[in-house]
Amino acid sequence: MTSKKAEYGFATRAIHHGYNPLDYHGALNPPVFLTSTYAFASAQAGSDIFAGEAQGYVYSRVGNPTVSVLEARLAELEGGEAALATSSGVGALTAVIWTLLKSGDEIVADQMLYGCTFGLLEHHIRRFGVETRFADLTEPANLKKALGPKTRMVFTETPSNPNMRIVDIAAIAEICRKAGVPFVVDNTYCTPYLQRPLALGADIVTHSATKYLGGHGDLIAGAVVASKEMINQFRFAGVKELNGACISAFDAFLILRGLKTLSLRMERHSATAEKLARDLEAHPAVEHVYYPGLDSHPQKQVARRQMKLMGGMIALELRGGLDAGRAFMDGVELATRAVSLGDAETLIQHPASMTHVTYTPDERARHGFTDGLIRISVGLEDYEDLRADLIGALDRMGR
Ligand SMILES: *Cc1c(COP(=O)(O)O)cnc(C)c1O
Repeated sequence: MTSKKAEYGFATRAIHHGYNPLDYHGALNPPVFLTSTYAFASAQAGSDIFAGEAQGYVYSRVGNPTVSVLEARLAELEGGEAALATSSGVGALTAVIWTLLKSGDEIVADQMLYGCTFGLLEHHIRRFGVETRFADLTEPANLKKALGPKTRMVFTETPSNPNMRIVDIAAIAEICRKAGVPFVVDNTYCTPYLQRPLALGADIVTHSATKYLGGHGDLIAGAVVASKEMINQFRFAGVKELNGACISAFDAFLILRGLKTLSLRMERHSATAEKLARDLEAHPAVEHVYYPGLDSHPQKQVARRQMKLMGGMIALELRGGLDAGRAFMDGVELATRAVSLGDAETLIQHPASMTHVTYTPDERARHGFTDGLIRISVGLEDYEDLRADLIGALDRMGR
């Protein structure tokens, strides 16, 4: 695998990095290596690979040539030394957590998280003796208060799911660095095209590649990007022996295909979302729109500093709460009522009854989002069509 020149721009590297057709019979696209295991030339050759004295593949839970191309490309795009692709975003996160933490350790996490991440941190890993302290990390001073002698990891998403709060990555990273605690950022919402947490001081980036990286709603996958040393641990402890969440070569191939258009897609998602956020904010049925590109967003300065564009996710609060939320959901025709995000199709969902149902009503209130919140993953359809659909649904609610 020749490495294309580092000074190439993002779009070029997203298409070429880590793959040379001439290494694979001239095949324009990376071959999909559908194999579980790999033959050794001799007993000694196998022994050398196991001992780490020679490079080579052993078993596809640990490494696969198609997956290696994806990993090299993701590491390059995030600006990290190495990457590990996994079978899901949750698999990426558990590979990190189960490798870094032991019973008695603590995590500090932002109070607003993807529903299943919250479920993992709040409800499940406690059984293994790991405690999570939740804090509002949009205010970096809160991190200092939450850090303790047992803290072994700080975790955040930004923008945070579902209501688009922004965490100042550089400010949090500085506090983590002084405390000697690894800082993990879930970069699913932005992708490396919009935001590169490692360059801002974070230690580890996680992804649900199911979303924008794959980009077509046809697979479940995840990734971790970090130093070579950490990725080795996540690969050989986390995935190989703890969670087994290895990605299939075919899904790796599909993500490589998705990455070719990542920059184009993120540009379009962001441009359409900016316009729709303004249209929605101007509508009398809408109480509030949460979008970092709006002047009404409290952390818009931080967002402009750390994000290239403001992304394709919008949250909105309707006047009329839960009932209005349901009426709006039922009123759209073009947008698809579905969870997930980052697809070509515009997806619309209701966190309180869907993705964040793992929060009790009390937890939802404490963590700062309401039952009337609607989340929109703005797709790649024509802006005019989306505007007509969403504004039309709002207009019809009043009648
Ligand atoms: C979807 C998502 C995850 C979980 O990823 P899966 O691929 O569904 O396992 C984690 N974090 C965020 C922000 C997500 O949107």
